[in-house]
Amino acid sequence: FDQLEGYIWMNGEFVRWADAKVHVLTHGLHYASSVFEGERAYGGEIFKLNEHTERLHESARILGFKIPYTVEELNDASCKLLAKQGFQDAYIRPVAWRGSESMGVSAQANKINVAIAIWQWPSYFDPAQKLKGIRLDLAEYRRPDPRTAPSKSKAAGLYMICTISKHAAEAKGYADALMLDWRGQVAEATGANVFFVKDGVIHTPIPDCFLDGITRRTVIDLAKRRGYEVVERVIMPEELEAFEQCFLTGTAAEVTPVAEIGPYRFTVGEIAANLMNDYAAEVMPKKAAAE
Ligand code: PMP
Repeated sequence: FDQLEGYIWMNGEFVRWADAKVHVLTHGLHYASSVFEGERAYGGEIFKLNEHTERLHESARILGFKIPYTVEELNDASCKLLAKQGFQDAYIRPVAWRGSESMGVSAQANKINVAIAIWQWPSYFDPAQKLKGIRLDLAEYRRPDPRTAPSKSKAAGLYMICTISKHAAEAKGYADALMLDWRGQVAEATGANVFFVKDGVIHTPIPDCFLDGITRRTVIDLAKRRGYEVVERVIMPEELEAFEQCFLTGTAAEVTPVAEIGPYRFTVGEIAANLMNDYAAEVMPKKAAAE
């Protein structure tokens, strides 16, 4: 990945992709003082860019550091980099972390670094599998209690259990894993929110210990616009058997139907398919959509 072409925006400058390096004693690497975003551009525009950049600032604030660039400056850098990379459709990865000026748990004086990388990432899940519905394992790790970890921050440290869970699922031939929370309630996948459908009603867990995804909120709005009822509630794993459809939402995953979770089976039904299409239309720049 460090061999890709083009530029990375790093601490206010465009540097060549291969030269965007950090020191091995970076605090973010040792102590996970790092936050990031995942965004997508469609037709040359970054979807909900401002919301993502605001979330990056908020993620850092929760971890106790201030990003030394305003939301406007980062938005501007993202748009300029997208144009410089020459992509219409792309994935955008901003990241902010504490630097290598001192070593130890405390890093009050360490510089806050910020970088933005943009590359082409057409599909998070295998496109053929995505149409049939992906297969999920049940993860061993649970999303932590918000009193145990800063769960409202898109913090790198929270992804440790996601990578372990996703690797364990992939080793068994699954595309991803469904995680419960510390109470044993259904939470989300390792990098996407989850929805279920039963008797024409959409059900999704309350995001009180995991990200209330920007895609999640967009899809809830799209569902309501279609007149679907959306219920945010506690969902227990015992209920999975009774659901007819299931799908994931996330910037990278977009709307991805799920065919299996462990022993449970779902169909790629009309509601999931309609929301997939509605989301694909929603993300297109408004002027292009009107043409
Ligand atoms: N949960 C996790 C763990 C994620 O990594 C993501 C992707 N950022 C999401 C949910 C979905 O968030 P969004 O729709 O804002 O991309």
